[in-house]
Amino acid sequence: MPHGQDIEDDTSEMTSEYECLQCGRIVEAETNPGECEECGGDFQNRAKSIE
Ligand SMILES: [Zn+2]
Repeated sequence: MPHGQDIEDDTSEMTSEYECLQCGRIVEAETNPGECEECGGDFQNRAKSIE
């Protein structure tokens, strides 16, 4: 029996939030959405902690 899955936290979300750098639109996606459908801007992953 496989084990080692115990270290997941409560946030079992598979998606990350991406923010459009131009218009500020927030999109949830598993991978980078690419272009904003509103303004064509680039998305930035908000989940990445910027230190
Ligand atoms: Zn946008």
